[in-house]
Amino acid sequence: MNRRPLLLAAALACVGGAAALAAPAAAQAEEGGGDPADLETRLQVCTPGDALSWLQQGNDRFVQAWAAARAAVDPAQRMQRLARLWQNNCQIDPLALAEGQRPFAAVLACADSRVDPGWLFACGSGELFQVRSAGNTAFAEAVASLDYAVGLLTIPLVVVLGHSDCGAVKAALGHELLTPSLEELLAPIRAGLPAGDDLTLAVQANVRRVAGDLSRRSDLLAAAVAAGRLQIVGAYADIASGRVTLL
Ligand SMILES: [Zn+2]
Repeated sequence: MNRRPLLLAAALACVGGAAALAAPAAAQAEEGGGDPADLETRLQVCTPGDALSWLQQGNDRFVQAWAAARAAVDPAQRMQRLARLWQNNCQIDPLALAEGQRPFAAVLACADSRVDPGWLFACGSGELFQVRSAGNTAFAEAVASLDYAVGLLTIPLVVVLGHSDCGAVKAALGHELLTPSLEELLAPIRAGLPAGDDLTLAVQANVRRVAGDLSRRSDLLAAAVAAGRLQIVGAYADIASGRVTLL
């Protein structure tokens, strides 16, 4: 089943031109670029396993590009290495996006400015349905958004994405009083914290709690999981390396 006929038609039209400009495959892999021809396959993703595989492959490309950028001595060289990754995400025809969206995965991520799911998974516009809040907290609005993503857009994968150095979880570990709105946001994070003050363990516990809560709070998500049409996974992004690890 092709879940993205609109994007696919546009993508196939673009792939030829992109391939003509592309560096040899070995050089692309070295600097984090993917094979533009892979876009056809990515746009036909229809199972949770397919979607997860594409996200992991995208993250592999990002990690390679991120490491190459870190190794670059001067800003121009760093820009060149990251630009190749970005270039690979620019194959979708804007006219196709105007006709509709067919994202292959949804991500509930922290609002932290360094944790951009499109960047971490090397995806372009139209590929990821993104819901973001500090501490990747799943308020009713987030659950409703994911209901829409799964129920109407038939997305087969939801990723709850926490990350290193998360300010929201740090705040939950602390004891200072914050604004009423922030206290409301932190209350469920605090309630699920493990013993101790290890930030990484706290972030990962929060991700697991949120991922587990989603299908308990939504009959639609629970039914999709039970039918094998949806997988909900937790993941942890290490900002320094760019690596996203499944929990
Ligand atoms: Zn965060």
